[in-house]
Amino acid sequence: MKTRNGRAAPHLWDNSHWGHGDYLLPAVRTTCPYCGVGCGLLAGRRADGSVLVKGDHDHPANYGKLCSKGSALGETVGLEGRLLFPEIGGERASWDAAIDLIAARFSEAISTHGPDSVAFYVSGQLLTEDYYVANKLMKGFIGSANIDTNSRLCMASSVAGHRRAFGSDTVPGTYEDIDLADLVVVAGSNLAWCHPVTYQRLHAAKSARPHMRVVLIDPRATLTNHIADHHLAISPDGDLALFSGLLAYLAENDRVDHSYVMEHTEGFDDALAAARRLTMDDIVAQTGLAASEIEAFYRLFASTEKTVTIYSQGINQSVIGTDKVNAIINCHLATGRIGKPGAGPFSITGQPNAMGGREVGGLANLLACHMDLENPDHRDIANRFWTAPNLATKPGLKAVDLFRAIDNGRIKALWIMATNPVDSLPDGEVAEAALKRCPFVVVSDVVSENDTLRHAHVRLPALAWGEKEGTVTNSERRISRQRSFLPAPGEAKPDWWHICQVAQRMGFERDFDYGGPAAIYREYAAMTAFENDGRRDLDLGAHAEISDRAYDELEPFFWPHRLGLEDQEVRFFAKGGFFTANGRARFISVSAQMPERKDEAYPFTLNTGRLRDQWHTMTRTGKSPRLSAHMTEPHCEIHPQDAIQLAIANDTLVRIESAQGAVIARALLSDGQRLGDLFLSMHWTDQFASNGRVNQLVPAVTDAVSGQPASKNIAARIAPLNAAHHGFAVFAERPDMSAADYWATVLAEPGWRSEFAFAQEIEDLSAHARVMTASANDAELHVHRDPATGAQRMAFFDGERLLSAFLFSSTPVRVARAHVSAHLSKDYSDPRERERFLTEVFHDDQPDPGRMVCACYGVGENDIRSAIDAGSATVSAIGKALGAGSYCGTCLAEIQYIIDARSPAEAGVQDPFTN
Ligand code: SF4
Repeated sequence: MKTRNGRAAPHLWDNSHWGHGDYLLPAVRTTCPYCGVGCGLLAGRRADGSVLVKGDHDHPANYGKLCSKGSALGETVGLEGRLLFPEIGGERASWDAAIDLIAARFSEAISTHGPDSVAFYVSGQLLTEDYYVANKLMKGFIGSANIDTNSRLCMASSVAGHRRAFGSDTVPGTYEDIDLADLVVVAGSNLAWCHPVTYQRLHAAKSARPHMRVVLIDPRATLTNHIADHHLAISPDGDLALFSGLLAYLAENDRVDHSYVMEHTEGFDDALAAARRLTMDDIVAQTGLAASEIEAFYRLFASTEKTVTIYSQGINQSVIGTDKVNAIINCHLATGRIGKPGAGPFSITGQPNAMGGREVGGLANLLACHMDLENPDHRDIANRFWTAPNLATKPGLKAVDLFRAIDNGRIKALWIMATNPVDSLPDGEVAEAALKRCPFVVVSDVVSENDTLRHAHVRLPALAWGEKEGTVTNSERRISRQRSFLPAPGEAKPDWWHICQVAQRMGFERDFDYGGPAAIYREYAAMTAFENDGRRDLDLGAHAEISDRAYDELEPFFWPHRLGLEDQEVRFFAKGGFFTANGRARFISVSAQMPERKDEAYPFTLNTGRLRDQWHTMTRTGKSPRLSAHMTEPHCEIHPQDAIQLAIANDTLVRIESAQGAVIARALLSDGQRLGDLFLSMHWTDQFASNGRVNQLVPAVTDAVSGQPASKNIAARIAPLNAAHHGFAVFAERPDMSAADYWATVLAEPGWRSEFAFAQEIEDLSAHARVMTASANDAELHVHRDPATGAQRMAFFDGERLLSAFLFSSTPVRVARAHVSAHLSKDYSDPRERERFLTEVFHDDQPDPGRMVCACYGVGENDIRSAIDAGSATVSAIGKALGAGSYCGTCLAEIQYIIDARSPAEAGVQDPFTN
């Protein structure tokens, strides 16, 4: 079977070819660089240089499955847009010059202003070995704890909640618990899109054990709802009241495991007293749910011993995020449902190595190896292990506070590694202004252009996925190797090498003289075991003397991995054994108060989140045309009734504002939204859209305990954005869209495609079209005007090639977009073909496959609707007819949605995925 673009369908890649025939190198076993599921991959190169990626059937995180993003990794490894050489002041420089300059500027700042005048801002994209040396340098040798990570933005509240309850940042269970549970509560997580392979695992478990129940707790009816028996469309941040009420319900209905509570915990009575202060009326008011829904959920939870509560950013990204985490953990502690097969609270991490960062101390309030900066015994252990000349003695600045300190001049030198804070930190304008003011900014990255790099004084080229070596830890504490199978391009070097070189030139030669990542890993493993004796959860002592070869061959494994106890139980806390001073878990008394938010100027509540086929700020996934085809511009979901009240039609442009800033997006009417709520995706940057940076709307308010920003409960307003001209265009080369008032551009196959709009009437649109089109100065222009509608079509040819094709309209453009790009690769050397292009080819009456649903086979939603009409009424029938959903399976929930909706237009409601 072939895809729409004639590419061999992915399932036809033949495993038997791996390492043979036209493959240049044997495939390596490595891991996906995207989400915290931590899928194992086989990756290798063909003789033509292209990269093939398949799921690793032997990797226990995914057993061969991959989602659309993992499957498309091969399309993202090209060297276009890579940073290949060090740069100082925008000019190419030698490594020596760049390293010397960084070491000198950091040393100068430290000697003049003290250690707290410098900072690192790092990332869950780093490998554990990179993270370890960055943390060691800052906390052990520079003498400051000013190193924080972008993981602060996604799971710091889980870390804080774990540490409050368990005395350690321990995820008690494993993915296997999802297979074994009788009830899976999914709270604040769109698993189907954000952790697709875990979602498929849950789907498979439910199919195999139909009595399993799934409850989705989420303000939105996301596609995860397709697996849910019950959806609690909760008010944003209402989870705290819901789980507090659950604790009281469990006590009142004699569902507390008193022996577990007595033997292994403390603080139960206080936590219960706090929970009992809430009446059912309070819970109804704070959750927005009906009492009957709440009671049904409580009954189900109370009566189901094997319960797993999966939670993610919807819980964490809140000013009460840590309390929400502890409210969930309280319920599991009260029932003793923790660390047992099929039972436990389960925080799912967003990034591939968020867990690894937590382990080595990538957060400003942690030390290393799950040791605590504020614990003098732990500081003493780290001090002696590292023979540290200048160990930090107090927590450093957390991400939001760090950028405030940069803004007010306290930070004189900053090193950003593998992250793009201008697009991801709350109040993006302030973050960008801070970088502009910072006297010295170093950015290590794999790309040459993003919204943060433009503020770097020094740019360091890093190795990308496929080129670097090290380890990562997934959401279930499983450590896996990332292995290289591509050569290092240009002068790019691994992050650990950057850090160690700078450290050596700051005078710490002996302590940062590593032969490679295996040596760093050995030291890290030894540190986890140093004077541990079971007192700390994280212990990799069995690997303290691992050979280079054994490190190369390392199989995925769970920690702890204590020397002499390699086969110990992988789950924690079924029999107590918490890492608090007295070994007891702590119930946390939480006061269930919703964040105050009374601002009549901003009556809507904005929620933000991920798309299925994009990752973070699109620097990698934006290189894949098929991933980019899923959602081609920023969109804002709004309930149809709200839309009617505001005269917002589906597919029209809207302006969303908060007190911080504004974003322009395409309106998508969705009855999956609650009335009064909006949803925007988080990925769009200035590289891909004119006004799409969602972080411009997010206020820099944080959870008081964890320091995590509240990215999901934002006061906002929305209004239609009137445009005089709407446009759609395809381009052979990346266009210059700066003249348009609104634009969004993504890679297509071939070329680029853009949606755009002009606010004011423009007499000569062709002049703008020419500016947008690269190499159009001498190009042949064809124009066609429709006298009835005023719509215009334009095309530029360079003699034999179509350079660009435009459709302008006074209303949002209707055209079968998928067909237009294909003309960019056709031969137009015949003038007659060029003449008839606008009148006979570039029409709006072509069959439109619609928005891409199946990225693997290039199947659009209209294709699927047609197949349904032709009698393919099940997901498997669609798979047989079109291939859709039969490879990675990421789109299965979406296909099911389309089948269920059948006639959304007749119902007056558009599906939430239509653009
Ligand atoms: Fe990568 Fe997808 Fe697996 Fe996440 S679920 S690790 S993005 S393949």
